[in-house]
Amino acid sequence: KSYGVNELRRMYLDFFESKGHLVMKSFSLVPHNDNSLLLINAGMAPLKPYFTGQEIPPRRRVTTCQKCVRTGDIENVGKTARHLTFFEMLGNFSFGDYFKHEAIAWSWEFLTKVLGLEEDRLYPSIYGEDEEAYEIWTREVGVPGEKITRFYRDPETGECDNFWEHGAGPCGPCSEIYYDRGEKYGCGSPDCKVGCDCDRFMEVWNNVFTQFEGDGKGGYTELSQKNIDTGMGLERLAVVMQDVDSVFDIDTMKAIRDKICEMSGKKYEVDAMDDVSIRLITDHIRSSTFLVSDGVMPSNEGRGYVLRRLIRRAARHGKMLGIDGLFLAKLSETVINESKDGYPELEEKKEFIFKVLTQEEEKFNKTIDQGLAILSDLMEEMKKNGKKELSGADTFKLYDTYGFPVDLTEEILEEKGFSYNEDEFKACMEEQRQKARSARKVTNYMGADATVYEQIDPSITTEFVGYENLTYASKV
Ligand code: ATP
Ligand code: MG
Ligand code: MG
Ligand code: MG
Repeated sequence: KSYGVNELRRMYLDFFESKGHLVMKSFSLVPHNDNSLLLINAGMAPLKPYFTGQEIPPRRRVTTCQKCVRTGDIENVGKTARHLTFFEMLGNFSFGDYFKHEAIAWSWEFLTKVLGLEEDRLYPSIYGEDEEAYEIWTREVGVPGEKITRFYRDPETGECDNFWEHGAGPCGPCSEIYYDRGEKYGCGSPDCKVGCDCDRFMEVWNNVFTQFEGDGKGGYTELSQKNIDTGMGLERLAVVMQDVDSVFDIDTMKAIRDKICEMSGKKYEVDAMDDVSIRLITDHIRSSTFLVSDGVMPSNEGRGYVLRRLIRRAARHGKMLGIDGLFLAKLSETVINESKDGYPELEEKKEFIFKVLTQEEEKFNKTIDQGLAILSDLMEEMKKNGKKELSGADTFKLYDTYGFPVDLTEEILEEKGFSYNEDEFKACMEEQRQKARSARKVTNYMGADATVYEQIDPSITTEFVGYENLTYASKV
């Protein structure tokens, strides 16, 4: 049976409520009293004080549907079928209450009994040395042993996808559940299996069993109070339930996608480049809308910078699709309509959200106009001097000082029979990157990992040009 996103969210929370959990509202995307994190990126993040024992939880069993932003995934957005910068994470948590047996049994019950998913398509993974989890999956749940994948630590780094650990402190093994979407989503390799990077075996749920206290040096002692922390991507679950190609095709996302198509007069799945823009805007307008509703304002640092980049990237891809004039506020109305069921605050803050988005979009458009004027002067000069190529330094200046995107520069130059010196431009970028890196050493970006900026700042990434050789884009 096909369920809508809003229905699935409720079914999950109801199910865990029936298992004694307290349903709590999603926390803000802006972390509270936690400067180790720029934005909330998992269901457990705002619950940390309950896990560490710093605060007493209102109940020892809690369930949430948490708004999450993962800027680190921005490069994947529009390219894989399953990554978004904004998504909702369903989670059930135990603070020293139930442990592995119940967590595993309930996740299976929810997927197979409540939602009626085929058992054959579900593949658990475990931490290689977690025999307890193996026993539960095989003996109690009845999953054939050969369907369970063991993930081990990397012998060099000691890291393991299925061992959750952040420095010293509580940590423990994970057990994930993957869904086999079928061969048509596979990479075609005979080695394609759970853990492959392609879109066939999709990770839907991660169960973390916090059972150890790590000393940060590889030593572990068993915790007396063991915790459960789980996370399932709501959008991914909807992909499975609605049997669609990607997170951009589920009901709530498709509504946004359709709106973009209506605004631009483009059709989805006609041109691979357009599709990347359509998907990118679909994602970024959601993250922007939710960030503004949680009080983040566009700026040049920290969270505000993340938001600014998301808005400007969306605006630019709108231009690439040929959308005329301001469109972000109008589009965010669709986001609000699709999500207000779970997040009534969106409706309440609607006018404010529209205003912030429009202001930033206007600022960006002004930048574009300014850049256009400068570029046409430069072209005038080139014509006079009989030059065909814009210097890398000028291209870079347009980009860096006026925020004029290089692919737009290139497009405009091409229209008039000009080009730009790409090698020189890249050298300027590299120089800038080095500078930014050394600057970062002395600047604390509100406690965020500096890679956040590398991943989100187009001045340090290859941006649009890189999409040509991407798997998802090339498949469509
Ligand atoms: P992946 O390996 O696919 O990147 P992950 O291991 O990084 O996922 P977790 O940190 O385990 O993800 O988060 C728990 C769940 O949240 C995942 O199993 C997935 O369903 C969902 N999820 C994670 N990242 C994203 C994303 N960028 N967009 C949508 N859903 C996500
Ligand atoms: Mg990931
Ligand atoms: Mg993973
Ligand atoms: Mg995971």
